[in-house]
Amino acid sequence: MPLLANRVLELTMRLGVVRFGLLIAAFEILFSMLVTVVLRGIVVGELHWVDYLRPVLFGLIIAPWLALFFTYLIKQLGESRDKLAQAHSKQQALNAELKRKVSELNREIDERHNAEAQKQQAIRYLQREVAERRDTQNKLRDQAVQLRSLIDSSPDLIFYRNKDGVFSGCNLAYEQLVNLSEADLIGKTPEDVYEDQIAAQVRVTDYKVLNDLESLTYEQWMTYPDGRKAMFEFRKVPFNDARGNLQGLFGFGRDITERKQAANALEQAARDKTTFISTISHELRTPLNGIVGLSRIMRDSELNDEQHDFINTIYLSAVTLGNIFNDIIDLDKLEREQLEVAPMPLHITELIADVRAVAALMCRDKKLYFDYQQRGDLPAVVEVDGTRLRQVLWNLLGNAVKFTQQGQVGLSLDISPAKNGKISIEFRVSDTGVGIPKAELDKIFAMYYQVSGQGKTKAVGTGIGLSVSQRLSQAMGGSINVTSEEGKGSCFTVSLTLPVLSEDQLPDATDIELPALHVLLVEDIELNVVVARSVLENLGCTVDVAMNGTDALRMAQEDDYDVFFLDIQLPDMTGFDIAESLMNDPNQRLRETPRIALTANVIRDKQEYLNKGMQDAVSKPIDVGLLTMALARAFGCVDEPVLSAPAPLLDAPSGQEESVLDTNFVGQMHETLGSELFAKSIDMFEQLMPDYVETIHNQLLSGDDKAVAEIAHKVKGAAGSVGLQRVQKLASQAQDLDHPAWEQNIQEWAEGIAKYYPLDVETLRQQLVTLDS
Ligand code: ADP
Repeated sequence: MPLLANRVLELTMRLGVVRFGLLIAAFEILFSMLVTVVLRGIVVGELHWVDYLRPVLFGLIIAPWLALFFTYLIKQLGESRDKLAQAHSKQQALNAELKRKVSELNREIDERHNAEAQKQQAIRYLQREVAERRDTQNKLRDQAVQLRSLIDSSPDLIFYRNKDGVFSGCNLAYEQLVNLSEADLIGKTPEDVYEDQIAAQVRVTDYKVLNDLESLTYEQWMTYPDGRKAMFEFRKVPFNDARGNLQGLFGFGRDITERKQAANALEQAARDKTTFISTISHELRTPLNGIVGLSRIMRDSELNDEQHDFINTIYLSAVTLGNIFNDIIDLDKLEREQLEVAPMPLHITELIADVRAVAALMCRDKKLYFDYQQRGDLPAVVEVDGTRLRQVLWNLLGNAVKFTQQGQVGLSLDISPAKNGKISIEFRVSDTGVGIPKAELDKIFAMYYQVSGQGKTKAVGTGIGLSVSQRLSQAMGGSINVTSEEGKGSCFTVSLTLPVLSEDQLPDATDIELPALHVLLVEDIELNVVVARSVLENLGCTVDVAMNGTDALRMAQEDDYDVFFLDIQLPDMTGFDIAESLMNDPNQRLRETPRIALTANVIRDKQEYLNKGMQDAVSKPIDVGLLTMALARAFGCVDEPVLSAPAPLLDAPSGQEESVLDTNFVGQMHETLGSELFAKSIDMFEQLMPDYVETIHNQLLSGDDKAVAEIAHKVKGAAGSVGLQRVQKLASQAQDLDHPAWEQNIQEWAEGIAKYYPLDVETLRQQLVTLDS
């Protein structure tokens, strides 16, 4: 709207319509008057009052209309202006809205741009990811193929089972063992794949692995489809998923048949070695025993001093030689960890006198001075294994002499006063010989160790003596130590604490009064016969000699003997065979005549002899005292209990079935079941046994003692159920892992079971026939 109009409108609004109308009228009157006056003045040149009145009248008449017209106009104008203003503000609002929308739109567009950019980025990322994944998958596939070929190329068995014991996979080696492809194997259980016994073991070991969540190793014989048997070492390991949940187990099996065979061959070689050593030492001992025995007999006969000395030297040399054999046997025992000591009451002063005599002789030969010192008093009797103590001291003195070229060898005893019934003695063997370098002092007790650079002396020994001496000292509860200075000499100290006994605790053979006995001496070696015969005759016995088993058994029937002395190794049979025959003889007198073994072996465990039908055993070379004691025990001349005879392996032939069979039980079973059913039970037992025997054998090879005991338990039950007493007894021992000598005997028991069950089944069948008739 033009500015003027606006002003007019504002003025109208301010003055109101009436006042504005009057203003307009006044203005119009004035304007008309002005115009009239000007026009009349110019045109007419004169003015009349009418000229003034007319414009006023006109003005008055026209003014209201004019005012009305203007008012209306102005009002219209005002409304128009308001509308305009309204329209304007609407327009503005619309504009603002529009602006907002536009900016919103812009933002949205921006966002969309961003989103698009992000989308593009995400797509790129995804593409990269997809590529990477494809890569990874390819790598994984490659790795899986590699892993598979690795697993398949393994000569070891690999298999996995889930926790329900169902196969989930295996490698090629396993496929070949079970003769099933992996696809066929998956979903199968051990029972579907293995024979019952193996499946049972698999189940047991699986259970252990999954239950204890620990790996487990065991050995098991397996059979290939072509019938080839192989010993496997199985290792089972539990496995979890990524979240640590147990999934099942991995199994690995390694064919250790060759290793086992090698180990068995080694064991066999060790056994052969032991047999060889004992055979050789037996062969050597036999003539040596003759020398020891005869030289001792000669020494006690009428001789001049020189002869006595010579014979004594022969005697002591032979005894030393015997000790070397003992060393060799000890070495073998050391290797088998069977070195033992047997403490017995002993006159220690006599032992020391013996040792001094030997040492003095050895020194005299080498022109060395032998010195003996003793601090403190020796008790009369102590408890010690005299043979072993003598062996240790002789070995130390022997070394001292060997490694000393001049000067002296000393033996000194430091005896501390007895305390709590025990005495401590330090036996010190010193020399002025080559000595031992400091660096070697620790090593000389090792097996076969010899100090180098000790001149000629080193070739003489074996390097065994000190090692054996140390073990023996330790076995006697003591110790052995050495101090030495190179070039000056050495000093070995054996410290022992020994129980002190009273004199009367020492069985004194010389006081024993033996009856005049009629003796059958069974011995095949002339020299030994001479020695034994003279010893026995000195004891007042009359002696008949049989040089072989057949003669012995014949002579036993022909004459009344009070006692049999039985050598073990005879040309036609063993002393144990003779003992068994005598034990089973129908003649009660023969069965009851004492049987004493004469053995060239060291008696490790007398029970072994008792188990094989002897009442006692005396080792060669014969010790008069020990032989006297054995006879005294057999004839009740001493309080010492007579060693009880073992239960015979077999009874007299008439009652043979009794120890093999539980005859009472067999009789009852026969009565209850009847012959046919009982025979069926025996058949079943016979069918079961080969498996049991093989499993025991395999488990023994694998060293699984528990499994051996378990099978032995089954054998015990099975044998018991048909009355096979002997097999039952053997199995009962084999099942008892707590048996103190299980380890040492299990092989024998297992062999006994295998050997006796077919024989005993035969006896049982015969018994059934007898019962039937
Ligand atoms: P051997 O005497 O048969 O060689 P030992 O086991 O008795 O075997 O001794 C082992 C080694 O210890 C000897 O070879 C020797 O080197 C050393 N030895 C032992 N006693 C003495 C000693 N009295 N003086 C010097 N060296 C010794």
